[in-house]
Amino acid sequence: MRIYEKDILVILNPFFFVYVDMIDYFIRNKNMTNKNIYEVIIRCQEPQYINILTKKFNIPFDTIDFLLGLKVIIPIEQSWTQGFYTTLDIEICTHCNYRCDYCPVKISPKKPQLMDNKLFAEIIDKANNFPSITTINLNAYNEPLLDPELLDKLNIVSKTKLKIILNTNGSLLNPDKFDAIIKCNAVKTIHINIPSLDEQIYQKKTGTRNFFKTINNINYIIKTKRDVEINLVVLDKNIDKSIKKFYRYYKNNSNVNIIPGIINDRAGLLEGEYSQRLQINDKLVGCNRFINYLSVSVNGDFFICCQDYFQREIFGNIRDGTIENIINGEKSIGLKKKVFGEMESSPDFICRKCDKMRLGQLKVRANKYQILKKQEPDSQNLNTGYSMNLRF
Ligand code: SF4
Ligand code: SF4
Repeated sequence: MRIYEKDILVILNPFFFVYVDMIDYFIRNKNMTNKNIYEVIIRCQEPQYINILTKKFNIPFDTIDFLLGLKVIIPIEQSWTQGFYTTLDIEICTHCNYRCDYCPVKISPKKPQLMDNKLFAEIIDKANNFPSITTINLNAYNEPLLDPELLDKLNIVSKTKLKIILNTNGSLLNPDKFDAIIKCNAVKTIHINIPSLDEQIYQKKTGTRNFFKTINNINYIIKTKRDVEINLVVLDKNIDKSIKKFYRYYKNNSNVNIIPGIINDRAGLLEGEYSQRLQINDKLVGCNRFINYLSVSVNGDFFICCQDYFQREIFGNIRDGTIENIINGEKSIGLKKKVFGEMESSPDFICRKCDKMRLGQLKVRANKYQILKKQEPDSQNLNTGYSMNLRF
């Protein structure tokens, strides 16, 4: 039975504007009538009964079906309980052997702590039972290769549907360690963060003398041509110049991708040359990070996101129940409402200092403008004031 045969009340997904690119893609590829889709998007900024949409505004059933399937519109009672979680970040240890210039570890390193394998196994088991999660990162400002039980953890993951992205500075990824990691068959991608191909700059930026050791490790990994994606993530403020050097150096290695990394001030934490001094006082508009990623601390707490170095915005613990229970719990929903501007947040709320929110605001404005332009004006719109609702 089609869901809209019951006359349910639907609303535009509160996360929609973060996903407007996706809907554009589907519209182009499915050859839908854009006008109807935009009509629904605009109408459903306020709750609407499906019968009203189909009968009064002549929206075809197929369009409603398509948009419900994509979660562009959703039954009103599901407004804040859903997400699009694909990735789980797990803090398997709290420390790092580097002190990078652009990282909070340099200004406030944490006391070394390791996640025990029993807790790790519980997290993995619950993530494996959560259908949309496919990817695990072993990070939260740490170096995962410092965990002496890393291989045991990889073996736990290898028995599940999940795949790991190993984010590392590469200094401890020597040939033996790399071969042992690959043998566990849990890692599908390795991201090696590397700020420069210049030894002196590398030393200055990372606070280590590990340049040649790391480059040798990378060269070994490339040479083995194992079935793993290798991404060199270049973290440099002068990214254009720096990235050209990387391309030149690795141009003959088709199994390596060079990726520009993003440096920000971690929601206001970094000072000096990395400081962005953001303070967003407008209504918050949401952030895809919070509905795509989940972050779990070394003691099993769920915290808002990777920008929260001190893990201040906690909304549950893995021992509280299933992942579904936690993300649909009161604390998680309250936090989502704050991030998406449905609920008031204090001036020092982390998202108010974060450049991802700033970029999100610009994107939402651009997307709303784009939708406004695509919506053909008609007398009904003018009469109902919908065009006014979309002003920014
Ligand atoms: S290697 Fe990564 S976690 Fe360690 S200090 Fe550098 S940026 Fe931070
Ligand atoms: S806006 Fe920044 S701090 Fe807030 S959820 Fe997104 S990434 Fe995290």
